[in-house]
Amino acid sequence: MIDDRSPDVLIVGGGVIGMSCAWRVARQGARVTVVESATIGDRLACSYGNQGLVCPSHAVPVAAPGVVAQGLRWLFDPTGPLYIRRPWRAGVLRWLWRFARASTPARAEAGTAAMAELLLRSAGLHARMAGAAAASDGGRPYGYAADGVLYAFLTQEGLRHHLEESRQAARYGIPFQQLTGDQVRQMEPALSPRVAGGVLYPGDAHLDSRSFVRWLHAQAIDAGVQVVEQTDVIRLQPGRPGGHASALTSRGEIGAGQIVIAAGAWSPRVAAGLGLRLPVQAAKGYSITFSRPPWRPRRPVNLGEARAVATPLPHGVRIGGTLELAGLDRSIALRRVQAILDGAGRVVPGARFDAGSADAEVWHGLRPLAPDALPIIGRPRAHPNLVLATAHGMLGVSLAPATGEAVAALIAGNRPAVDLRPYSPDRFA
Ligand SMILES: Cc1cc2nc3c(=O)[nH]c(=O)nc-3n(C[C@H](O)[C@H](O)[C@H](O)COP(=O)(O)OP(=O)(O)OC[C@H]3O[C@@H](n4cnc5c(N)ncnc54)[C@H](O)[C@@H]3O)c2cc1C
Repeated sequence: MIDDRSPDVLIVGGGVIGMSCAWRVARQGARVTVVESATIGDRLACSYGNQGLVCPSHAVPVAAPGVVAQGLRWLFDPTGPLYIRRPWRAGVLRWLWRFARASTPARAEAGTAAMAELLLRSAGLHARMAGAAAASDGGRPYGYAADGVLYAFLTQEGLRHHLEESRQAARYGIPFQQLTGDQVRQMEPALSPRVAGGVLYPGDAHLDSRSFVRWLHAQAIDAGVQVVEQTDVIRLQPGRPGGHASALTSRGEIGAGQIVIAAGAWSPRVAAGLGLRLPVQAAKGYSITFSRPPWRPRRPVNLGEARAVATPLPHGVRIGGTLELAGLDRSIALRRVQAILDGAGRVVPGARFDAGSADAEVWHGLRPLAPDALPIIGRPRAHPNLVLATAHGMLGVSLAPATGEAVAALIAGNRPAVDLRPYSPDRFA
């Protein structure tokens, strides 16, 4: 049932970003309603089956020098790690052009500086939240573990190339440790004797994303948030300054003081008609979760050239990767799924990963990705009652606490802890 009192804040979307915002905003005393198309923690959301890394190590944006040339080589290979279906679709060519323009050394450096600050802030909040959750709920309610993330490379070239990123991120306070092939195998004995070297990021952590969203949901409910599930937001009326905003939903209209769009890859659809330029593409990725895994790493392992990550979870091991620009399409390309597993098998030769095995859950998620690979967090100039919290790309889990904190500051009219100018919704205007 929709509460007949207008909330102070209406949040569209109950993924990891929406729920983190809801909890933070409600904790400062505001009446908050979340409207979610599906249910909280549903498979449909990108927050369900991702790799769960909390990774400041990813501070260098994917829009970086060299990526365009590399991407062009992969582009039309239907089993490659990057695939664009029908690039001439509306908006895609323009998005790619913006992506190419964002991939200059100067912009990548500025992006890294900004992302390092936001990611480190968020990693600190994650650690505090996990500590508090363990103290109140006992154990690790969503499997948070601060064990770092290991990268393993089969070639010196792959390692050398990645080390450039490690050094760039290190300039902004993200530590790393270079490892020989033997050191990598000491940490993960099942890895191939061909592994030439690796990198350990000791400041990274991981968690089970679905449990994390459910935990945030429970915290939000405790803080008084009303969650309206199975309800689509169809159209928004953000209203005039000082006036009231409203949302037309599939179950009627809801008025609100302010509206936050946190609808992930669907955000451009939710914002349609508001006159905002929101070049967010859905970047599909896949994961396969094995409940009886043929190999269990001690900590998450990025399998280097295989462009896949393996994460140990309380209920199994998840292997995932790829980036496919195919719009809001929800189909699963099984040959791309098996290509991820074949790549993983080359790095872990003793394990046979089969997407068709009875214990394998195959999932796809749509990452909301802006062409400069930075999130969009802030108030658009044209709509003072509106806040955007979207385009978290490959880093929504990592960035959820800092985004929630920033949105809560914006709603309260306070200065956010992190400079939000690089994430301005107006930067594409
Ligand atoms: C394979 C893979 C691996 C990944 N690994 C990592 C990782 O290791 N670490 C990391 O930090 N990130 C990772 N990510 C990225 C991360 O999953 C996303 O950035 C994050 O989940 C985005 O969260 P969100 O809340 O913005 O979107 P979502 O989780 O997609 O939530 C958006 C919600 O909005 C709802 N919605 C949409 N339209 C409407 C509407 N009209 N009305 C009401 N509700 C609506 C949807 O139903 C959905 O629940 C990965 C992604 C993939 C695909």
